[in-house]
Amino acid sequence: MNEITGASVVIVGGGVTGLSTAWWLARSGVDALVIEKDIVGWGASGRNGGGCGHVTSPLYPEMLRLWPIMDELLGYPTEFSANRIHVSVTEEQLAVQNLGAAAVERQGYRCELLDMKQRRELIPLVGDHVAGAHFCHFGGHSNPHRTVQAYAWAMQDHGGRLMQHCAVTGFRTERERVIGVETERGLFGCDQLVIAAGPHTGRLSAVLGQEVPVQSARAEMIVTEPLPLMAYGGVDGNGLHGRQTLRGNLAFGGGPHEWLDLPEGGVFANPSTPLMGHIGRRLIEMMPKAAHARIIRSWAGVIENTPDGRPVIDRLSTFPNVVVATMSSVGFGLSPSSGRAIRDVVVDGTCSFADISSFRLARFARLEPDWRELQGWVAPAKEEAA
Ligand SMILES: Cc1cc2nc3c(=O)[nH]c(=O)nc-3n(C[C@H](O)[C@H](O)[C@H](O)COP(=O)(O)OP(=O)(O)OC[C@H]3O[C@@H](n4cnc5c(N)ncnc54)[C@H](O)[C@@H]3O)c2cc1C
Repeated sequence: MNEITGASVVIVGGGVTGLSTAWWLARSGVDALVIEKDIVGWGASGRNGGGCGHVTSPLYPEMLRLWPIMDELLGYPTEFSANRIHVSVTEEQLAVQNLGAAAVERQGYRCELLDMKQRRELIPLVGDHVAGAHFCHFGGHSNPHRTVQAYAWAMQDHGGRLMQHCAVTGFRTERERVIGVETERGLFGCDQLVIAAGPHTGRLSAVLGQEVPVQSARAEMIVTEPLPLMAYGGVDGNGLHGRQTLRGNLAFGGGPHEWLDLPEGGVFANPSTPLMGHIGRRLIEMMPKAAHARIIRSWAGVIENTPDGRPVIDRLSTFPNVVVATMSSVGFGLSPSSGRAIRDVVVDGTCSFADISSFRLARFARLEPDWRELQGWVAPAKEEAA
């Protein structure tokens, strides 16, 4: 095999988790190399809704601190916009959202119900018919494509390296250490390895004797032609999340998730017409004044899901110089702080700013082998065959 110079830390996966980790490592002087099988952001990181949420995560407070200063730290724009509005179309949705608002207020975050005048001013595409809308004074949204690119450029500005179109195919080990990463382009030596391969993280860690339990689900986004800019672009509701882009397009996505068995190397990038129609219908229910707008683009992406919906950031017990990191469907928003946490675990052995013990792999020690079936997280074809 052709031997190519490696790096002190090799990171598998050029999504926001791997890129943010590499950026945090590189800016603290660590020699970091990201290896990506396609191009940066080709996975969920370049296909998501751009929402920066997940209040219950231990990484959330640091995420809130970092997003408003990310453009300055990275040196490139992410188009971050703070706060979000949650629209409740029906009275049932409003009752649920009121409970949610009370819960986040108990955590110290402010959530206020807007009156009709405020709604008309802030989100004019939302009709007067909706049951209510809460202004959430926390969270926000960014442009996923700009953010992925910003991490990649900023990481390289600090001396980090990026190898695209290069799939990791295996690992070279010596006793209980991974000493190299085998790829289509040869072997890359490493002192430490981070596997941040999204839905492929489980398959890759299994090669090293410890599988990270993740199940893949397909989710979709639709984009309308540009509409007049609303005063406020970050809107959730009616089972959808999304944003109005700076050009005016409405970019929205949402469930239901379609569980799937991800083939090696696969991304299932094709959107499905039924799900697209479903998203479009719910968007019109929430924003009837956008009903005339045509859908000009749509795409699908694969979301990684752990059994309890919480991220994994931990060292493998089989190979302690390997850190595995997968964010369980909320990885975009959390990426500024997840990358910092992973950097801390790699360099210092522990996260310096949050208690991430709930992200350890040990919590799955008693996981049933058929946990996917027990949770109903099975691909439709498999369900029919059963
Ligand atoms: C439609 C949709 C909407 C979403 N909306 C939001 C949202 O609003 N807010 C939010 O926070 N999250 C959202 N998410 C989830 C979020 O996008 C993901 O949690 C996040 O992007 C995960 O980032 P990652 O870097 O961990 O994984 P990924 O983005 O999946 O990146 C992993 C990378 O690893 C690479 N890779 C895999 N195997 C190999 C290999 N063998 N060798 C080399 N490279 C490899 C892949 O090509 C990929 O680029 C959404 C996801 C989707 C699909």
